[in-house]
This record gives sequence, C-alpha cells and structure tokens, in this order.
Amino acid sequence: MAKNIARWRGFIAFNLVGVILLLVGCAKPQSAALTRYSEKKGLMGTIVQVDVCLNDEASSRVDAAYAEVWQRMSDISWRMNVYDPNSDVTKVNEVYPEAVTIGADTHAMLRRSVEYARQTRGAFLISVWPLIKLWRASQESQQPPAEEVLRETLRQINLNQLSLQADNKVARLNRTISVDLGGIAKGYAVDEAARILRQHGFRQFYIDAGGDIYVGGLNCRSEKWRIGIKDPRDRERIIETVAVSDQAVTTSGNYEQFLVIKGERYSHIIDPSTGYPQREVVSATVIAPTAEAADVFSTAMTVLGRERGTELIDQEQPEMASLIYARQPDGLVVRKASRRFESYQLNR
Ligand code: ADP
Ligand code: MG
Repeated sequence: MAKNIARWRGFIAFNLVGVILLLVGCAKPQSAALTRYSEKKGLMGTIVQVDVCLNDEASSRVDAAYAEVWQRMSDISWRMNVYDPNSDVTKVNEVYPEAVTIGADTHAMLRRSVEYARQTRGAFLISVWPLIKLWRASQESQQPPAEEVLRETLRQINLNQLSLQADNKVARLNRTISVDLGGIAKGYAVDEAARILRQHGFRQFYIDAGGDIYVGGLNCRSEKWRIGIKDPRDRERIIETVAVSDQAVTTSGNYEQFLVIKGERYSHIIDPSTGYPQREVVSATVIAPTAEAADVFSTAMTVLGRERGTELIDQEQPEMASLIYARQPDGLVVRKASRRFESYQLNR
C-alpha cells in the first residue's frame, strides 16, 4: 500500500513537472537558439560590418543575401562618391550647361537632399562642396582662407541652382554650383543593406558602417540591440548605451575626421551659414527610423549646435531622438539630450 502511494506521488509529481514545462513552453514559444554570423568589408572609407542572427534553416540563405548586400553597397559607394572620376556626383559637378542623366537612386537622393535642406533649416546642404574644397586646400597650404575668398565661395552654394528634371536628368544653372553626398550616402547604403536582408527573409540583424548603425528586430538573444556611444573625450570608452530595434543610431563627431591648419583642429563639417567649420559640437548622435535620416540629422545637429539642434528634434521630428556633447567657450564639454532620448537609455 505504502509502495502504491509512493508510486502515485511519483506519478503526480512527474506530471506536474510536465505541466509546468508545458506552461513555460507556452509562455516562451520559440527560444530556439540563434547564432550570430558576421562579415566585414572595407567600403566607403570605413569598415562595414554586417551581422545576422541565424537558425539552422536560414544558414542556406546567407551567401546569396551577403553577396547582394556587398554588391549594392560597393555600387553606392563609388557612384555617390565625389572623389571618383566616374561617379554620378562627378558627372553632375562637371557637365555644364546641358543636363546629364544619372542613376535613378542618385537622382532620388538629390531630390531628398533638397527636402533635408528645408527640414534642417539649411544646416544640411549638399551644395556645401565648394566650401569643403576651400578648407581642404587650406589644409594643404596651411593657410586659413582669406575673408573675401570665403565670401565669394559662400555665394556658390545656393542649392536652387541645381535643376532636377524628369528621366533622371540634372542640370546646373550656373558653373559654380557643385554637390557632395558624403553626409548622406553612407546612411542610404546602410538602409539598402537592411532592405536586401529583409528581402532575403532576415529580420534580426546589425549593420555598422563606421558609426552609421541600423539594427533590425531583436538581437540574437531576443533582446533589443544595445548600442554604445563613445565618449568624445576618450574614444576607447563607452559613455552611454541605448537599446533600440528597427532603428538607426548614427554619431557624427569631429574625433573621427578633421582638418589641421597651423596646429588648430577644424571639423570636416561646414556651417553653410558662415562658411566656417563648426566648432561647438564634439559629437552628435541621432536615433531615427532610417540610417539615411540619422546620417543627415547627425550632420545637421553638428552644424546647428546643442540648443537649436535639440529644439529642432524635439519640435519637428517626433520619430527621432538626439544626444549632443558640445564644448563651451571655457573648454568644458557639456551634454544635452532631446526629450525622447531618455526612453532609449540604459543604466544611467
Ligand atoms: P562622417 O564622415 O564622420 O560620418 P558625416 O556623416 O557627418 O560624417 O558627414 C560629413 C561629410 O558630409 C563631410 O565629409 C562632407 O563630405 C559632408 N558635409 C560637410 N558639411 C556638410 C553640410 N553642412 N551639409 C551636408 N554635408 C556636409
Ligand atoms: Mg552624417
């Protein structure tokens, strides 16, 4: 009898464990382990990293997806590069006065860039190229540009002088206007990579083109992706971390790229309203729905500065959040986050 009861107890206990396991199983349906697969390539003047989360079934789709991603990114990389003699951008900057036909994607990007100039109150301006050339020449000669040359060059950056026409045609309305897509092409390339990965059935992925980051879905442990933001005073240190999903995080900072003229450090981002490299912002991070918007707005925030930049995000871009580190005249670096930034922050 005692033996029988013990057997029953054992049976009930066994079944309870079974029921509990079943309930746990229902609460967390598919926790099939995903592995993280990663590839890197030197592209667009930086190292591009593309990671996807894989289960057994998806492994067979990896090769085709990556081949297409790398092909598309390298295509964008040269066609939208102002330094490549055969690029779409060079065609636009050289042909005059007749119209030139360029790729549909570059043409569409020029159109969006006109809209971005409006949205950023002229801070993001692709026609800033003559000023960039001027400041680069200054680095060569180690002589800051003369005031009158600067003033003359400022007259050449009117984006209205670019005429976007049907059938992917563009014409310059005067000889001096020229454009540079260096502040937007990388973000676009990252969005294209995300689009291709999704087309191949991947939902969970991480793309990083030298600080222009986009993350798809959740990470391979089924949590939001965590992105570390570097301390602008000490690049080896992560100063804060954000958690995001299906979003881009881009940081524009003068610690990665800059000009040195007579021992003074100048930003590679030019303020189109003054013609001078911006000085105040040491790093501007933007969280946005696309990598292109994050790329554009992080450049614009750098130009606008911490007060005007943050106000723009808070008041006009409800889907974005920003974080700026700026240097005050006394040398102190101060932090300013937009209202929505705090909701992405971890452990502060
Ligand atoms: P990074 O190269 O560090 O990612 P950004 O994304 O901020 O930097 O883009 C900087 C590039 O954008 C510059 O190298 C230049 O080609 C271009 N640029 C500079 N100033 C402006 C501006 N005011 N508007 C648009 N593009 C700019
Ligand atoms: Mg940018």
